[in-house]
Amino acid sequence: MVLEKLGSSLYDAIRKVIRAPIVDADLVKELIRDFQRALLQADVKVQLVMELSQNIEKRALDEELPPGISRREHVVKVVYEALTRFVGEKPMPLEIMPGRQNVLMLIGIQGSGKTTQAAKLARYFQKRGLKPALICADTFRPGAYDQLQQLAESINVDFYGEPGEKDPVALARRGVKEFGDHEVVILDTSGRHKEEKSLIIEMQQIARAVKPQEIILVLDGTIGQQAAAQAMAFNEATDVGSIIVSKLDGSARGGGALSGVAATGAPIKFIGTGEKIEDLEAFVPSRFIGRLLGMGDIEGLVAKVKEAEVQVTDKDVNAMLSGKFTIADMYQQFETMRSMGPLQKVLSMVPGLNYQLPQSDLDVAEERLDRWKYIIESMTVEERENPKILNASRTKRIARGSGTEEREVRELIKQYNAMRKMLRQLKGRRRMLQRMPFKLR
Ligand code: GDP
Ligand code: MG
Repeated sequence: MVLEKLGSSLYDAIRKVIRAPIVDADLVKELIRDFQRALLQADVKVQLVMELSQNIEKRALDEELPPGISRREHVVKVVYEALTRFVGEKPMPLEIMPGRQNVLMLIGIQGSGKTTQAAKLARYFQKRGLKPALICADTFRPGAYDQLQQLAESINVDFYGEPGEKDPVALARRGVKEFGDHEVVILDTSGRHKEEKSLIIEMQQIARAVKPQEIILVLDGTIGQQAAAQAMAFNEATDVGSIIVSKLDGSARGGGALSGVAATGAPIKFIGTGEKIEDLEAFVPSRFIGRLLGMGDIEGLVAKVKEAEVQVTDKDVNAMLSGKFTIADMYQQFETMRSMGPLQKVLSMVPGLNYQLPQSDLDVAEERLDRWKYIIESMTVEERENPKILNASRTKRIARGSGTEEREVRELIKQYNAMRKMLRQLKGRRRMLQRMPFKLR
């Protein structure tokens, strides 16, 4: 199982789309293959993977593009929406039945963040006008009692524990009985090191004894590939009703959590975003997928894709228009083009410039970027700065070094000269335009 990689391989697949010079049917099919591989490796059920990927492929290729939206943006949006549907379209609240006792039992391995999230949950319900109580049923770890007691005290929440008691099942039963008049009773349990058999059995026994309203699995958002194994082990023993992913405040993207969802079929309901008691957030699927795909908050995904393009373009157009244009700059251009689309688009973003490159030039530029990049990579620094020195023997050497033909090297130089000329012309017009108050957008 390569679950940790789920997040990063989905991320790579999406980036491929964002950076590709052209988004066509082939690229979409490649994306679908990457996507399937990532999900299957993460133990997502085959049937679900097929459903998801068929849906993506169909929408990505068949749907008509809304005005102003490129195929690229559309594809990214479709993938994002499919994944969001997978983790749950809408935030799922933790439902508390009013007027009776609701026992919430937290399970998970040691260090996953159970005790911390228990206190955070208590605070969460307290703020919503309910009367929570905390029970420490961790009879394994020394200090567990003190830890939860102090947390409970700091938020003024009723607490039950029995220091020295060895039987967590009996303790849990007594605690739940003690808090018969509390609406939300949060039961913290012990963790051990990993999915030990004895721990799993203990969880089973406690669950049978106190019949919790909901069993909540706490998964450490930073653990990656162990998440699925953990989730599966706990889910076999007890009926995991929901998941809290802790420690999502750092750089963790939470790919493992997605596997946890896949392994249990239980929705994520909260995320822990820090060590403090207030650091608990209701889970928002779109935000989580955005993070998973490495795109921050994806709520405005399409807008973001656009913005990213424009940001690069702004800087880039300025560099292009600044006058000096070497082969090294050209290489840079090729890199940029690959990441954001056709040169025409770059030029069309300069207000007031309606410069049209012949379509044939654009096609050539797009199709040959890679070969040209190899050629440039085979040039010396001197040659890149001063292409005039490229004589027959240098041309021959570069062609051999880059695995291309001499003809192609000469073509590249020709193209370079054409681009330079074009940019000179643009520069002249830019000067005129600079008198007008405009901003590159
Ligand atoms: P337990 O063994 O499962 O009860 O885990 P604890 O609640 O004792 O937490 C283990 C460690 O993780 C502690 O140092 C906590 O402060 C830390 N922790 C828990 N939740 C979060 C979180 O959401 N963010 C961060 N940064 N740390 C957390
Ligand atoms: Mg604990």
